[in-house]
Amino acid sequence: STPFGVDLGNHSAVVAVAKNRGIDIVVNEVSNRSTPAIVGFGVKNRSIGETGKTQQTSNLKNTVDNLKRILALNADSPDFEVEKKFFTCPLVDKDGYAAAQVRYLGKQEQFTSVQLVAMYLNKLKDIAAKETKGNITDICLAVPVWYTEQQRRAAADACHIAGLNPVRVVNEVTAAAVGYGVFKTDLPEDEPKKVAFVDIGHSSYTVSIGAVKKGELRILGSAYDKHFGGRDFDKAIAEHFADEFKEKYKIDIRTNPKGYNRVLVAAEKLKKVLSANSQAPFNIESVMNDVDVSSQLTREELEEMVKPLLDRIHVPIEKALEVAGLKAEDLDSVEVIGGCTRVPSVKARLAEVFGKPLSFTLNQDEAIAKGAAFICAMHSPTLRVRPFKFEDINSFSVTYYWDKDAEDTDHLEVFPKGGVFPSTKLITLYRTSDFEIEAKYTHPDQLPKGTRPEIAKWKISGVEVPEGQDSAICKLKVRNDPSGFFTIESAYIVEEKEVKELVENPEAKPEDEPEYKIVKKLVKTKDLNIEYEGLALPKDVLAEFFEQEGKMVAEDKLVAETEDRKNALEEYIYELRGKLEDQYADFASPEEKEKLSKLLMDTEEWLYDEGDDSTKAKYIAKYEELASIGNLIKGRYNAKQEELRQELRAKQEA
Ligand code: ATP
Ligand code: MG
Repeated sequence: STPFGVDLGNHSAVVAVAKNRGIDIVVNEVSNRSTPAIVGFGVKNRSIGETGKTQQTSNLKNTVDNLKRILALNADSPDFEVEKKFFTCPLVDKDGYAAAQVRYLGKQEQFTSVQLVAMYLNKLKDIAAKETKGNITDICLAVPVWYTEQQRRAAADACHIAGLNPVRVVNEVTAAAVGYGVFKTDLPEDEPKKVAFVDIGHSSYTVSIGAVKKGELRILGSAYDKHFGGRDFDKAIAEHFADEFKEKYKIDIRTNPKGYNRVLVAAEKLKKVLSANSQAPFNIESVMNDVDVSSQLTREELEEMVKPLLDRIHVPIEKALEVAGLKAEDLDSVEVIGGCTRVPSVKARLAEVFGKPLSFTLNQDEAIAKGAAFICAMHSPTLRVRPFKFEDINSFSVTYYWDKDAEDTDHLEVFPKGGVFPSTKLITLYRTSDFEIEAKYTHPDQLPKGTRPEIAKWKISGVEVPEGQDSAICKLKVRNDPSGFFTIESAYIVEEKEVKELVENPEAKPEDEPEYKIVKKLVKTKDLNIEYEGLALPKDVLAEFFEQEGKMVAEDKLVAETEDRKNALEEYIYELRGKLEDQYADFASPEEKEKLSKLLMDTEEWLYDEGDDSTKAKYIAKYEELASIGNLIKGRYNAKQEELRQELRAKQEA
C-alpha cells in the first residue's frame, strides 16, 4: 500500500503520500491542498470535506466540525461545555462521551466522535486513492501532543473503521520535526542543533524542542496550550461585532445561528486580510431580519481584542524549555508552522519571547502531513527511505499498579514525564498466584482537564510457584510503543538455574581444552498469559461501526451516481434537441423528428416532475430510450461525414 500521512487539523486536514521520488501532497476533488474537517448530514447522503463546507451555512444543525476536539472527549469534562460553544449541531452525551446529534436520512441519529472521525478519514482515504490510483491502507496519523491514551486509541479505532491500518500514531509537531531532520540538507553531523518547533493552528498551540543532526532527531521537551488557535481569534472578532451590531442596528446576532455563523465566517476572512493590511472592511448583506451590516476593523483593534490570548503565548515556550532543560538563548533556531502564526501580532510575540527571529524553513501548512507520510514510509516493507532515527518524549508520567504480594512495593512509575519513547522496561514481581496489573497516569491533575487517568489493565495468568520457592519471579516487559501506547509486551517466569558457562581466558591457545564453570542464573522457564483490557473499542463494536460506515459510503456513492446519471440525461436532452434542428436536420425523417421531439419534450417534463427525484436505473432507462433513436440519426450523420472526408482525401491525393 502507498504510505499515507495525515495531518488531522481542526480546521482542515492535509494529506501526503510517499512515492519513490519523494513525498507528495495530495490535492482533493476541487484541487485544494487541504480539505475542510467537516462532516455534514442530509436527507439522502453525507457531505464530507469540501461539499460539507459548501453546505455548512444552509445545514448548520446537521453539520459537524471541530472533529479532533471531541474525539474521545468525556461528556463530564469541562471541555465538553467549551466545545459546545463552537458547535452548530447539538453535542450530546452518549455513553459518557461527546457525540453529535443530527438528522440523517430523515431520522434523528447520534454519531460517536470515533465514527465521525472515521467518516472524515475515509473521505481523505478516498481522495488519496483517487488521486494516486494506489491502494491506501497503511496510515501514519498525526495527533496533538496532548492526546492521551484514550484519544490515541480512539484515533486508531477511527482508522480501523475507515478501513485503514494505523501503522503509527505520531505527535503532530514531532512529525514536522522529522520532516525538518530528513529534508534539511545542512544539518550538523556531530553536535546536534537545538531547534524549537512551534505550531499554532485553528484550535491549539504546541511547542516542541528538538535536538537535530544528520539522520537523527530527539525531542527534548514539549508543552501545549490546548485552547489557543485561530478559532479563538475568529470568535473574539465575531463577539466584538455582535456587540457592535446590537447597538448600531438593534439586532442580536447571537440569537440567530445562521446569522452568527455568517459573522464567524466573515470574521475569519477579516482576520486573514488583517494579516496583510492594517485595516479592513466588514460587510454582510442581510445578516438577519433583512439588515445589511457594515463596519471595519484595524489591526490594532484586533490585537487589543486578543490580548488575553497573546499574553499566554510565553507559557508553553517556557514549559517546553524547562522540560528540555534549556534556555531560549541555547536554541539555534525557532521554526514556525500552523496557520495562526500568520497573524503579525502572534509572530511578534513569539519572536519577543524567544528573543530571536523566527524561521520559516518548513512549509507552514504541509510540514506535518509530509513528515507523517515519511514516517509511514519508514514502516513500509516495499519503499526504501533514507535512514532516520527519531525519539519522542512522554508528556505525562505513567505508573503501573498491582496488589502487593510477596514483593514489597505495589506500584512503580515506569515511564516518567520527559522520558523518551519508544521504550521498553522490565519489571520484576514476586507472586504466589495470578494477578492483575494496571497502568495509570501518575498525576491526573497534569492531564488536560477532564481526562481520566486510567490507561489499561492486564490479567496475568499461569503463575506457578516453582518447587522449593516461596514465590515465582515474574518478569514483565512493559512498553511505551512507537504510537505512544502503553502495553505489556510479554510476561514470563524466571528461575534460578545452575548453568555451565564458558570461562573467558584471553591467554588460552586454540589447542587448549575450553574451560567451563557452573554459575547460577535466572532463566526463563515459562511464558505467562496476558489478557488486555484497555480503552480501544471492543472488537464487536469496531466491526459493527466498520459495517455501518461501509453502508453509508455505499449510500453516498449511489446518491452521487444517481445525480451523475440525471445530469447526463439532462445534458443529452439539450444536446439532441439542438443538433436535431441543426446538423442532424437532414438525417432524420419527418416521422422520426416528430417522434424524437415528442420524446424529448416528455422526458424533459418528466425530469421536472416525478423525475426530479428518481432512481439511477430510471435515469439510465430514459437515456437509453432517447439514445435508441438519437444514435440512429447520429450514425447516419457520422457516416455522411466520413464519406465527405474520404472524398476530400481522394481529391487531395488525385
Ligand atoms: P489544529 O492544528 O489546531 O488542529 P489546523 O491544523 O486545522 O488546526 P491550521 O491549518 O494550521 O490549523 O491553521 C488554520 C488556522 O489558521 C485558521 O484559524 C485560519 O483562519 C488561520 N489562518 C490561515 N491563514 C491565515 C492568515 N493569513 N492570517 C491569519 N490567520 C490565518
Ligand atoms: Mg494543525
